[in-house]
Amino acid sequence: MAPGATDEDVAAVVARVEEVGGEAFVSRGLVRTIIGLVGDIDSFHHLNLRTLPGVADVHRISDPYKLVSRQHHPERSTVWVGPQDHQVPIGPDTFTLIAGPCAVESHEQTYEAAIMARTAGATLLRGGAFKPRTSPYAFQGLGVAGLEILADVRGATGMPVVTEVVDARDVPTVAEHADMLQVGTRNMANFGLLQAVGEAGKPVLLKRGMTATVEEWLMAAEYIAQRGNLDVVLCERGIRTFEPATRNTLDISSVPVVQSTSHLPVIVDPSHAAGRKDLVVPLARAAIAVGADGLIVDVHPQPETALCDGPQALAGSDLRELAQAVRRLPRAVGRADAAAHVRPTSA
Ligand code: PEP
Ligand code: MN
Repeated sequence: MAPGATDEDVAAVVARVEEVGGEAFVSRGLVRTIIGLVGDIDSFHHLNLRTLPGVADVHRISDPYKLVSRQHHPERSTVWVGPQDHQVPIGPDTFTLIAGPCAVESHEQTYEAAIMARTAGATLLRGGAFKPRTSPYAFQGLGVAGLEILADVRGATGMPVVTEVVDARDVPTVAEHADMLQVGTRNMANFGLLQAVGEAGKPVLLKRGMTATVEEWLMAAEYIAQRGNLDVVLCERGIRTFEPATRNTLDISSVPVVQSTSHLPVIVDPSHAAGRKDLVVPLARAAIAVGADGLIVDVHPQPETALCDGPQALAGSDLRELAQAVRRLPRAVGRADAAAHVRPTSA
């Protein structure tokens, strides 16, 4: 309460809180009175307490998200991705590599990229069929034909597929073909799309918005969870800062920050963070060391001809270096290889 608040002002606040079933604890100091509220936080929101006479400020001390918060779910979660007979874990005990081309360009390119990914230790295949491009003149992806290629390559390699959906109207089609739905940085705050993927019955990979705070990112995850889908994996992919040397600034600290406040797994995309292949392996090492639950990395059989994000795609010796890091470093921080924990039957 403001220093000049009267006893009537305090009583009026207490009465409003009690009217909606809450409890109000009044603590009187020499200059100021503080009122602590206990009860259903959403019902307090509607009271507009800030508008009452004598109220100086209102501070929320509990997390604004519930379903994704560790306050109500202290154990960190594992999300399982893939068909009933081949589920890959993403969670606190294992380390999961997702790799593949930025965009699906052809059957051959996607198949070759999948083999490269698997050889490097990946257990899940990434590949964009619907591409959210900054320019409307850039390659927009193969659409449904790309989804069919991904499904074929899953059949040929046994790798479950992660692919992006950019439009709520496409969610049922994408969910029919893919094992995990990706929501990209540009759509993190597309609340209709978040609700649609929340109802799709498939795990979701939710990338951090390029200008989103950790709290906004977790609120976006809450939209998905609120529609009944708690199988959400968060992905840090870099944020916009004043630094032009990298495409985005990888916010490596967001990984332990998220893990301390949310039970959801969090992985890192060093490819889209850096935009340059020479930085991908160093950032991947940093992500593993900081405790990320996995990585998602762009690979391409011919980066120089890639229709999307060629400069960041790994191949050859760069990819071998990534494979070595992924083989050695997770063990050093106490994580098992996800491949060894694939769940062969439904749980
Ligand atoms: C992608 O993973 O293909 C992609 C477009 O990433 P982001 O949304 O992080 O830019
Ligand atoms: Mn890309």
